[in-house]
Amino acid sequence: MTPFPVILSSPSGGGKTTIARALLTRRRDVGYSVSCTTREPRKGEVDGVDYFFLTPDEFESAAARGDFAEWAEVHGQRYGTLKREVERVLSGGKHVIMDIDVQGARQLAEVFPASVLIFLVPPSAEVLLERLRGRRSEGPEALVRRLKTAVEELKAVSMYHYMVTNDRLDVAIARVSSIIDAEAARSERRREEHDADVSTLIMQLQLEIRKQQELG
Ligand code: 5GP
Repeated sequence: MTPFPVILSSPSGGGKTTIARALLTRRRDVGYSVSCTTREPRKGEVDGVDYFFLTPDEFESAAARGDFAEWAEVHGQRYGTLKREVERVLSGGKHVIMDIDVQGARQLAEVFPASVLIFLVPPSAEVLLERLRGRRSEGPEALVRRLKTAVEELKAVSMYHYMVTNDRLDVAIARVSSIIDAEAARSERRREEHDADVSTLIMQLQLEIRKQQELG
């Protein structure tokens, strides 16, 4: 089976990081691409694990070198996916889970057309607000900026292949996991394997037909 990128997008507080982490612990066939960002680390975030935290100059140089498969400005900070991160995971035979914004998803789907795009939506505006406030890492200005971005992102939902409501976390995780299974089983992703299996089956059936005819 050829592994593919799985792009998770959602408004901030939509739960994509939690879902990505849960899938990583539950499934051996998925890996994570660590993004680069110019924003400051939040409490508990580790460089090289949650993000590669870069200075604006470092980010600029990486972009100029062509290191990014995509990059975008989100909430006034820059975020980017390193080509080598995506390739590292795919070449290890794993689907690569990416938690990226709508602009990035659009670019990445062009570079990797086999990508599966999943949009996670909060069950209500109230829940989204609650989740954002619960973060308490930013002031009211940042909250308003994230809400405005959320409105813009929701408008792009039709570009995605799947929409999953993140009401109960365990249900949302299971849904995303089933989407990965279904996508992995699609004939066009396994053409060679399926063709070989079907040829073997046909050959065996033809042998059986001949045997039956000889007996009859
Ligand atoms: P946060 O600062 O809350 O970790 O992420 C803010 C936003 O940046 C989220 O919507 C997240 O999906 C997006 N983001 C994280 N990494 C990347 C990336 O590599 N590329 C793009 N385009 N967006 C990203």
